[in-house]
Amino acid sequence: MPRKKLSSLNQKKVRRAWFNPDWMVVSSPCRSSFWMIPAIHGLLIVLTPACTESDLIKDDNSTWSSPPTFENLALDSDPFVNAETKDSQLAVLHALFDPKTGYRLPGTYDKAKLEALFLDIRAGYFVKTEGIDEHIRREYHTFTHALDIVVTIHGLLREGGAVFLNEHEQSALVLAALAHDVLHCGVSNAFLINVNHPLATKWGAKSLQERRSADHTLMLLDKHKVLVAKDGMEDSLKNSIADTRTIIEEAILWTDMARHKEQMEKVAAALGKVIAVLEQVRKGGIGKGGATVEDVRTGVNVASLLDKETRILLAAFFLHCADISNPSKDWVLCERWAVIVMNEFFSQGDVERKLGHKLSMNCDRESVSVSKCQLGFGTYVIRSLLQLLEKLVYTAGSKSLENFEANHKHWEKIAKKEAESGKPYLMKLNPPSKEGGWLGELREGEDRVPNSRH
Ligand SMILES: [Zn+2]
Repeated sequence: MPRKKLSSLNQKKVRRAWFNPDWMVVSSPCRSSFWMIPAIHGLLIVLTPACTESDLIKDDNSTWSSPPTFENLALDSDPFVNAETKDSQLAVLHALFDPKTGYRLPGTYDKAKLEALFLDIRAGYFVKTEGIDEHIRREYHTFTHALDIVVTIHGLLREGGAVFLNEHEQSALVLAALAHDVLHCGVSNAFLINVNHPLATKWGAKSLQERRSADHTLMLLDKHKVLVAKDGMEDSLKNSIADTRTIIEEAILWTDMARHKEQMEKVAAALGKVIAVLEQVRKGGIGKGGATVEDVRTGVNVASLLDKETRILLAAFFLHCADISNPSKDWVLCERWAVIVMNEFFSQGDVERKLGHKLSMNCDRESVSVSKCQLGFGTYVIRSLLQLLEKLVYTAGSKSLENFEANHKHWEKIAKKEAESGKPYLMKLNPPSKEGGWLGELREGEDRVPNSRH
């Protein structure tokens, strides 16, 4: 994104903002809308007196029907339940990194060390950013989102993706998912640059927050002595540790939406070769095309036949797919996330309006239509992403694509109703739990958006 010059007036406002908590008050009535964004994770929404499709969000405090295990955590798991409390979050960690059946990182570490690392990464999602958190209610970039991506990447691996990566690389990817948005401010990179935020000065314009998350993660690995090479280790283990760290760093950096197109092109270019290798290795004619859950269950793995660069590319692609997987989840989750992310975008728009800046795309709560934003994001970003995923990882990709198309029809229906009634789409805001990382408070009326107004 081009760096925008602030007027001297605005610069004055902004400078004051970083040091004056009274910089501005972000009022946020319960309206929202959706976007189609190039540079931020995105979806769309609109909240004002309006219409709603269904009884979409559970009021009850849902709990697990059974505790999480490596086997039952999957693409359709409910992230709000998994992330409800610190204990439930730790249960997910220990299920996935079960020493007997779960993911395993290279090098020596024990349960306590892994848990300490997990909690330190988690703490990074609760850090407030001076000059931002006073004014913006971060609802989307919370620890609940991080844990959602952890479980989604796990589901994607188990449903085919694991065949392309070795055991350590799969484990690294799960860890990368956990940390991919650590320290995220809840505003876009472009916003930080446009207002000359000190973070922009420190980290530069390229993948600003992704670079910061990756560096923080590597620092925490060193601090906890996880994935750290030591004297006396065999060279193969040292190499494995170095490769694992590279996967974590690269995968996080590739979550920058600004790199979406570049990544799509690289993966599409590698697809033919990768699938040819997979088909060569399959025994007994268990299928053609993208990797399946059956491939994983029968132990098919082609990691050793792919070069390191290709494996990093695929790992990063999987994390990117997981990161923007909300539109391909069950409708209830798809819509709940849509409301949450749009409200975060609108908070940024509110600040931009107060600063006298041009509002970023999809950040104007006064005019953005949730349904149209969702449809745009789905049409121009998600559909082609999932079509490519399906070619590579058939089971996870086809399931996700099916869900996405069903959700897309929901949004079309809603858009039609909006057009016919002249009223915007109204939904209930149901943010993550406090322990799940949401630091805000609901405003009056926000939790009571009427349903079924059509
Ligand atoms: Zn993310």
